[in-house]
Amino acid sequence: MPKKGFFTTNLHSDREDSPEHGVLHKAIHPSVAYGYEDSHHLAEVFQGKRDGYNYGRQLNPTVTALQNRITKMESGRASVAFATGMAAITSTMLALLKSGDHLIASAFLFGNTASFFTTLERFGIEVSFVDATDMSNVAAAVKDNTRVVFVETIANPATQIADLEAIGELCSTYSILYVVDNTMTSPHLFLPRSVNAGLSVNALTKYIGGHGNALGGTVTDTGRFNWESYPNILDTYKSDDHSMWGITQIKKKGLRDMGGALGPEAAHHLAVGSETLPLRLDRACDNALALAEFCESHPRIKKTFYPGLNSHPQYQRAGNLFKKYGAIFSVELADELDCFEFLNRMDTVVSSSNLGDNRSLGIPVAHTIFHEMGAERRATMGISDSMIRFSVGLEELDDLLRNFEEALV
Ligand SMILES: *Cc1c(COP(=O)(O)O)cnc(C)c1O
Repeated sequence: MPKKGFFTTNLHSDREDSPEHGVLHKAIHPSVAYGYEDSHHLAEVFQGKRDGYNYGRQLNPTVTALQNRITKMESGRASVAFATGMAAITSTMLALLKSGDHLIASAFLFGNTASFFTTLERFGIEVSFVDATDMSNVAAAVKDNTRVVFVETIANPATQIADLEAIGELCSTYSILYVVDNTMTSPHLFLPRSVNAGLSVNALTKYIGGHGNALGGTVTDTGRFNWESYPNILDTYKSDDHSMWGITQIKKKGLRDMGGALGPEAAHHLAVGSETLPLRLDRACDNALALAEFCESHPRIKKTFYPGLNSHPQYQRAGNLFKKYGAIFSVELADELDCFEFLNRMDTVVSSSNLGDNRSLGIPVAHTIFHEMGAERRATMGISDSMIRFSVGLEELDDLLRNFEEALV
């Protein structure tokens, strides 16, 4: 049977689990604990001999329904949801790495992820930050103890695109776990499994939820990685089905022990938001492309960073890998313009740190989200003091263009 489309699959996902009263949305279940037929049943659920819910920190029916939706979007095997995207990343890394291991990470990473990886260094995990736009830099960093390569699809704010396909081949050759943070593209624009990633991370807070009204994150096992080759799986999690070893350890050591569980109310918001993901993201990407083209040809803008521009170093790669070029772009203003005054002249673009909202948002990155890392590191990431990042929303393009024109006087 042909695979059903993104909308059909997602919109009808909650009904597969015979929801109570025939409701079309999985209900919000606030209960933290569960009752059983009898005490034997309780024990069997805890021992994994029977399916069932044990405690709200590990499992909740509303959250499970969301996990199933994300797994289908990613064409994966299984997903675990967390309270935030950062909880998904920290819990996954802490569950799968130990001291003495080596992690290779892209040098162009979401700031908090980069900051967390420096925390891992304090626990005896070696981290190499490399320019992942060229696979040879990753290859040169591989050592005997390299366990994980971690990259993003479109980096923020300078929109570099990792050499996703070649890194996937390299990781397969060396049996290294390949983790791709798919937040910027989402499963609508790109499937990490297509480049052999073993795990795909999504900050649901961004495009999947889409409305800026709930935090959440997931990690999805794509089914591409052979967990038998991974040396850090604990014996207790080595069940007969090796394909589940990794996600089980993430669930037990990451979610259960570290406790960053997603709440059922947030899960409901994120599930509802996800239903319109392709509609929203296509429109935001189209707006972003038009605005980036406008900015590139404007005399008061020095440089425009957007993968959909011919001038972008990875323009071809982006076109080959992604359905569209994303909804984030950045600019460097001409010297005579002040980035604060420029943003203050905008009213259709809100000065805000988030991204993936339906509203257009802009932020002077060197002074805010990348302030803590210092000028030197910013320079290596291609972040200048006058750089502004835009997360483009769903407003009418004419309104956005007019607002950019007004602000560039
Ligand atoms: C926002 C973001 C995260 C973290 O997500 P939160 O839900 O804010 O914790 C991780 N990775 C990328 C690429 C992001 O943009």
